[in-house]
Amino acid sequence: MNIRSKVLLTILIAGICQLFLVNYVFASEESERMALYKKTSAVTDIPWYYFAAIDQYERQIHDDPPEYRVTAIQPDPLFWNGIDYPSMFFPSGWGASGNGDKKIDITNDEDILWSLGNYIKSYGTTKDDIRIALWNYYKRDLTVQTIMNTAKVFKKFQTVSLEDRDFPLPLEANYSYNNTWGDARGFGGRRIHEGTDIFANYGVPVKSTTYGVVEMKGWNEYGGWRIGIRDIFNIYHYYAHLNGFKDGVNVGDVVKPGDVIGSVGATGYGPPGTSGKFPPHLHYGMYQDNGEHEWSFDPYPYLKRWEKLAREQ
Ligand SMILES: [Zn+2]
Repeated sequence: MNIRSKVLLTILIAGICQLFLVNYVFASEESERMALYKKTSAVTDIPWYYFAAIDQYERQIHDDPPEYRVTAIQPDPLFWNGIDYPSMFFPSGWGASGNGDKKIDITNDEDILWSLGNYIKSYGTTKDDIRIALWNYYKRDLTVQTIMNTAKVFKKFQTVSLEDRDFPLPLEANYSYNNTWGDARGFGGRRIHEGTDIFANYGVPVKSTTYGVVEMKGWNEYGGWRIGIRDIFNIYHYYAHLNGFKDGVNVGDVVKPGDVIGSVGATGYGPPGTSGKFPPHLHYGMYQDNGEHEWSFDPYPYLKRWEKLAREQ
């Protein structure tokens, strides 16, 4: 074997090893997280998927947690200490030691989950109790709704590994779309166009692109018949101008990628039922929430990616 082959072989082996290592680290990190949620659940009576949902929510609003951390939860020091500054001597907040070392550490995952669990449990362990506890903790409706939705998704699928995606229309349908994000609207006033229009025939099925919960369904003057789904990454997916909704799809339902939610239409720009003022298309919008406010971003690159993924399946 000459030197060049040896170098190439070494690179190849290193590459394969890294691939395995990355997969292994990723899988083990998730099982470590799950073990921690379940352990805390066993000692606090708060179902594991609420801890998972709180962690998932905070994962989206903070930078990645440091290496030594398993969860992304960052308690407010005021919640933790009970007073405005960190006191080592007279803490009167919810911070407590959950890992048996007697030290109360605001950066220790076990201490954090244990303290949070005890705090929530002080309100009770039913869904409504937990919702009230979360509201008093975050003091923001959208945050509470997002966490409750995510918990529902985790409960249904019994895992936090929910990475699948789908393209909103069947690939065999006759459709077309361009990157029109930010263009001036043809209809609807001066707001910029917040989404991608996918043109297709009346009645082509419209599918959820993600795991999530149906948060809104109904008529809007501009959007026509439309559905909003909040996913587990603090992203709201908006499907507008539908011809109609799939039977049985209701607000509060858990959906997965590929679930049919309605069909392509041309509704909107008038009182309920108005249709045909423009060619049939699906208006698809995406909105990110960072824990303080929500903003629209361009779905086009994601649609391209999901279309490619769907084609490869
Ligand atoms: Zn549109």
